[in-house]
Amino acid sequence: MARYTGSVCRMCRREGAKLFLKGDKCYSQKCTFNVRPTPPGQHGQARQRKMSEYGIQLREKQKCRRAYGVLEVQFARYYQKAANMRGVTGENLLCLLERRLDNVVYRLGFGASRAQARQIVLHGHICVNGKRVNIPSYSVKEGDKISIAEGSRDQERFKALREGTGRTLPKWLTFDGENLTGSVDAFPRREDIDLTINEQLIVEYYSR
Ligand code: SF4
Repeated sequence: MARYTGSVCRMCRREGAKLFLKGDKCYSQKCTFNVRPTPPGQHGQARQRKMSEYGIQLREKQKCRRAYGVLEVQFARYYQKAANMRGVTGENLLCLLERRLDNVVYRLGFGASRAQARQIVLHGHICVNGKRVNIPSYSVKEGDKISIAEGSRDQERFKALREGTGRTLPKWLTFDGENLTGSVDAFPRREDIDLTINEQLIVEYYSR
């Protein structure tokens, strides 16, 4: 499947916000967005023109899509699913994205970024309820147990997790370091998601 392989820091600069795509660097002084927050490209430093309403909605959609590392068509499918669910569409959309297995692996601290978490899943290092799952878009459910696969537990990067992940877990997840297992205690709610995204703008974008 096609994936963006260019500079990810460029995406943060384009969206005008930190999207935390690069692991530890994002939390350090070296973060490119701290050093150069202007939009990328030759004219990035020129005075910005006022954005149209459509432009604002488009940027918000792109920001959310890029933060979760989802491609355009798949994101549109998430939106359709969210719109067909009960409740507020924007909140449903964020909750669906948050339930992706690669996001849960990232939230549990198994990977430094969502991209790394995605790779960990693709390489078969993750089990859900004891069964190996290598589909990053797999949607976790309440009560699911997410663990490091038996054959991968001795890898240094996973062994270190026994000492703790150094991550503040969202309320809907818990982590048992001894067994290298995370639990989905509840479905995520909007207030549990720390991304600064105005989901209403995304709904407006798709309702044009
Ligand atoms: Fe974005 Fe992280 Fe790069 Fe900073 S270091 S610009 S937060 S991807």
